[in-house]
Amino acid sequence: MKTYDIVIIGSGPGGYVAAIRAGQLGFKTALVEKYNTLGGTCLNVGCIPSKALLDSSHHYEDTLKHLDAHGIELSGEVTLNLEKMIARKAAVVEQTCAGVKFLMDKNKVEVFTGVGSFVSPTQIKITAADATEQLIETKYTIIATGSKPASLPFITLDKERVITSTEALKLKEVPKHLIVIGGGVIGLELGQVYSRLGAKVSVVEYTDSIIPTMDRGLGRELTKVLKKQGFDFYTGHQVKEVTREGATVTVKATTPKGEELSLQGDYCLVAVGRRPYTEGLNLEAAGVHKDDRGRVVVNDHLQTNVPNIYAIGDVVRGAMLAHKAEEEGVLVVEQLAGQKPHIDYNLIPGVVYTWPEVASVGKSEEQLKAEGVTYKVGQFAFRALGRARASMDTDGFVKILADTKTDEVLGVHIIGARAADMIAEAVTAMEFKASAEDIARISHAHPTFTEAVKEAALAATENRAIHS
Ligand code: FAD
Ligand code: NAD
Repeated sequence: MKTYDIVIIGSGPGGYVAAIRAGQLGFKTALVEKYNTLGGTCLNVGCIPSKALLDSSHHYEDTLKHLDAHGIELSGEVTLNLEKMIARKAAVVEQTCAGVKFLMDKNKVEVFTGVGSFVSPTQIKITAADATEQLIETKYTIIATGSKPASLPFITLDKERVITSTEALKLKEVPKHLIVIGGGVIGLELGQVYSRLGAKVSVVEYTDSIIPTMDRGLGRELTKVLKKQGFDFYTGHQVKEVTREGATVTVKATTPKGEELSLQGDYCLVAVGRRPYTEGLNLEAAGVHKDDRGRVVVNDHLQTNVPNIYAIGDVVRGAMLAHKAEEEGVLVVEQLAGQKPHIDYNLIPGVVYTWPEVASVGKSEEQLKAEGVTYKVGQFAFRALGRARASMDTDGFVKILADTKTDEVLGVHIIGARAADMIAEAVTAMEFKASAEDIARISHAHPTFTEAVKEAALAATENRAIHS
């Protein structure tokens, strides 16, 4: 039987990054993945393909609606070739997954293709698609099996017209009316892809705001901007029934006043969150515990109740984000090498890749209020920036929350062009416990969108923003 120091089950950003770090640190490492391509949800049906379609659809929308204002006039007709757009996305995914395979070889990680399941706390069985089985022995195992789309008990996902994000990434036509259940990250990102391509998009959200887990100011601003782009929002609506007849999908929901709303569309995207995935792992054979939400239970070291078995990423508690999974993979392996790594979960940024982008780190105003922390707010609108006017991306703002007494930055919330990239400055500043004044005194290149971060910091410091 082959033996390893570390076996990792699942090749998503958690698993494959853990494998690379294990290779770097000299562990004899194996990675088990049930699909033929590596990269997990993120590379195959998540982060990468969704961003590829967001970028393509953004080009299409700019061509149709925004080039003229820049003095670029098109003489021919602009047409959409959806098949080609989806094929480009598939090519990006293929290249990215092939890159992971290359990295496994480079770091001497042995890859097994098949479903990994526990036979005992130290033995893993790998069952290939043709049912052949192989048994391997390991000192340590890292469970990195990720998550799958969640649904509602009364919904039948036919995966043709009542779909999850996975199907939404490869539709063969642009929906006429896409009804999205869930105003979270997936619903808004993929809703915007099809809205740009010509679909009418209606979002039915259970809570009273879209992106409800982020600072509420962001949800309010995003609602305003997306409504201008043609989205319809039904917040505070509880979906009761989803039925399909032929090419028509009907979604019924209860309005905040207790009345019935009935929407008819040709596609319904169910985007109400994701659930941890442990099917097929045979956790019982190893004695690993799960909680009542199906997540593998881990301690602060990401160790399960079985000392030589660890778990990371979407399958454990915390935000379901690729970069969170990556940090956890590195942490586990470095611990096994005797190092003392650390993750500050408060400083894992969250991003929504709509346009305008939304990005956040640290505490929201709602969290600070709930914790009884006194804070001050510095906010700066992008429309006051020369760079934003030059590119006609004037929607949004930067909001910095700082401790009233110490001036330490406690949260940064950005909605606007390039927010996804700008949040890195806030993460770095907060990692080093910067005050708002520290950021305000840093020279920011002119003209850039990042000047809004400096201005918001100035506003938080002594209400002395320069350009407002
Ligand atoms: P996963 O990526 O889910 O990987 C788990 C892997 O384990 C899978 O390949 C699975 O096949 C394999 N596996 C499961 N069970 C077994 C078994 N028994 N044997 C062998 N293999 C097994 N996050 C971001 O940070 N940024 C984004 O922009 C972003 N966009 C997203 C867009 C969409 C549409 C979706 C759905 C998700 C997005 N996410 C994004 C979330 C991100 O994809 C996940 O947080 C991330 O993939 C979690 O990584 P993971 O390694 O924990 O698990
Ligand atoms: P989500 O948690 O972001 O949003 C789900 C939304 O559905 C919430 O607003 C919730 O209130 C709503 N909802 C729940 N039940 C409902 C119901 N019965 N009726 C109406 N609305 C309901 O989940 P998601 O958008 O499905 O994404 C899943 C995971 O994938 C998230 O954890 C997210 O972190 C990750 N993801 C991240 C990115 C990114 O980082 N850019 C992109 C896509 C997905």
